[in-house]
Amino acid sequence: MTSVTTHCPYCSLQCGMRLAGRRSLEVSAWEEFEVNEGKMCRKGWSAAGLHGSRERLTTPLLRDRETGEFRAVGWDEALDLVAARIGALQAVHGTDAVAVFGGGGLTNEKAYQLGKFARAVLRTSQIDYNGRWCMSSAASAGTRALGLDRGLPFPLADVERTDVLVLVGSNLAETMPPAARHLDRLRERGGRVVVIDPRRTPTAERADLFVQPVPGTDLALALGVLHVLVASGAVDADYVASRTTGFARVRDSVAAWWPERVERVTGVAAAQVRELAALLASRVRAGGPGDPGERARVMVLTARGAEQHSTGSDTVLAWINVALALGQCGREYAGYGCLTGQGNGQGGREHGQKADQLPGYRSITDPAARAHVAGVWGVDPESLPGKGRSAYELLMALGTEDGPKAMLVHGSNIVLSAPNAAVVAERLAALDLLVVADIVLSETAALADVVLPVTQWAEESGTMTNLEGRVILRQRAVTPPGGVRTDLEVLAGLAARLGSPVELATDPEEVFTELRAASAGGPADYSGITWQRIRDEQGVFWPCPEGPTPHPGTPRMFLERFGHPDGLARFHVVEHRGPAEVPDADYPVHLTTGRVLAQYQSGAQTRRIRDLPDTGPFVELHPLLAMRLGTCDGEPVEVTTRRGTMVAPARVSEAIRPDTVFVPFHWAGVNRLTNDALDPASRMPEFKACAARVAPAVLPSGVEPVEVPA
Ligand code: SF4
Repeated sequence: MTSVTTHCPYCSLQCGMRLAGRRSLEVSAWEEFEVNEGKMCRKGWSAAGLHGSRERLTTPLLRDRETGEFRAVGWDEALDLVAARIGALQAVHGTDAVAVFGGGGLTNEKAYQLGKFARAVLRTSQIDYNGRWCMSSAASAGTRALGLDRGLPFPLADVERTDVLVLVGSNLAETMPPAARHLDRLRERGGRVVVIDPRRTPTAERADLFVQPVPGTDLALALGVLHVLVASGAVDADYVASRTTGFARVRDSVAAWWPERVERVTGVAAAQVRELAALLASRVRAGGPGDPGERARVMVLTARGAEQHSTGSDTVLAWINVALALGQCGREYAGYGCLTGQGNGQGGREHGQKADQLPGYRSITDPAARAHVAGVWGVDPESLPGKGRSAYELLMALGTEDGPKAMLVHGSNIVLSAPNAAVVAERLAALDLLVVADIVLSETAALADVVLPVTQWAEESGTMTNLEGRVILRQRAVTPPGGVRTDLEVLAGLAARLGSPVELATDPEEVFTELRAASAGGPADYSGITWQRIRDEQGVFWPCPEGPTPHPGTPRMFLERFGHPDGLARFHVVEHRGPAEVPDADYPVHLTTGRVLAQYQSGAQTRRIRDLPDTGPFVELHPLLAMRLGTCDGEPVEVTTRRGTMVAPARVSEAIRPDTVFVPFHWAGVNRLTNDALDPASRMPEFKACAARVAPAVLPSGVEPVEVPA
């Protein structure tokens, strides 16, 4: 049986895999793909489980608002209706009456086409995507400090070759298990791993130093570490002078963050703050004595635990300050990086589905960028709309007097994944028209007026950009079920019905060729990348401009200069603010959220795969808290915040701080609790910290407590 090489449909590691078969699709290892070397987590191994599933949508559906019932219709009827309603709403309320919402799992081609459809066909500024809730704080900070945001500015395998690895708010052993082998190999070489997390996760079990701060205080911890580095003379003065600007003000600002004060704010012992700083400043080298005069290579990686806060971008800036002060950014096997979450979280933010960006990671407010992209699209630059609302602000505007009256959603299960989700559901209900393109009837699709069934990963080709900035190719392995269309075909069909003169290609390789031209000369330059090169080279790292000779791509960035015009990195003064909501007498504990191994994001796909355990949510709490509440493992507990309440079985564990509870977010109800306070720079909601009250729940008579999954 011949097989096709492709990539997992889920997280940003984008593990390589082989797919074979027609009726029953089989996943096997693609050993030669270096990112995962044939290893996958259970989500990847079971990814074919949705192939042939009865839950796949195969015909467009129209919902009767009176009865809530769906009716199957043909594609022409569905698209005619959507186009007619869009035209009518825009005629009355203006072009911004229609919004578009994308996703970080869409291929680069779809993300690009969605942005083009919104700006050039609909001429609406109202477009954003769920990647805003993934890594936007790191993207904002990376751009401000280093001049360019590429999640990891080096290959992931560099982790093995650093000396000290610091993971801030990352549980990669559970969220992307094949990546954890790099931690093991680093430690086998004699390197050290530091994990900073309010929970003792499977990743923390691999740590040489585990630091367990109060949720939302990673920024204060970074200030304290930098304070100790300055006080102990560990700052790399030559590097700071030659490759950065702004250090003096930052140095002065951290003078007030001595370790005992940090201890009071973060709950991390002052001695441990000093121990962490000493480790970062050490000259210990993994794999041998090295040059005794040379400092240790230090790599700092942040993830959602540090970033999904109303202070997320400042927190990342604070950790970049630490890396810069130690002279690590732009040094081989060292520096700062972000572990992006969603499958195409990186590419998804580069090609135009974000409210403030045009393809190639260009700014929509830059006249030269607008002229370039308008030229590729064959439209007048003046006709392009300006910057729109960020994802959550867009949702809050739906159905309001000044807000959009209709929305098209591609690849996002908003009603589960947005914070303060009950209010989001109300806003969706206030729309005149909600259109959802999806592969299954997700919780958001179930609320739509029109549902459009589209192809899933194994049924289509397209590029993705993984967490390293490596552009890879997802190859079609099977024929889609009859009745579904690709997102590209949906957009082209709507554009034609709207009478737009703008051409939207439906062949993904053709779209990629156009994307290359649109990205040429931009920060994320893909112009030298072709599908054939990706096949031949197992992916190509951007930037990769087109030239007279093939550009090799850029696995490692910033070795010579940073992305700012003067080539220098920027220190930024940042202040600890803490979470927008802190515990008080009414809501006395912290609530934090996250992922579990067997599920992915809102679970729209993984909860439908039989080989993956669908345990439902649980509330992880410390034995001391359980004792105080009078509850125990498996008993139902009620978690209440200022926004809502949910009940789930208790999972009692010493892995969590006694003042904090953890709930995984793959199931309905969890995000009804989370706080919608936004980071001022990135507009990231504060998913990771809010104040909550926990109490034993009273089950209705006859209902037994749920067994707690291991
Ligand atoms: S979910 Fe992530 S880690 Fe797991 S197989 Fe897929 S890409 Fe790899």
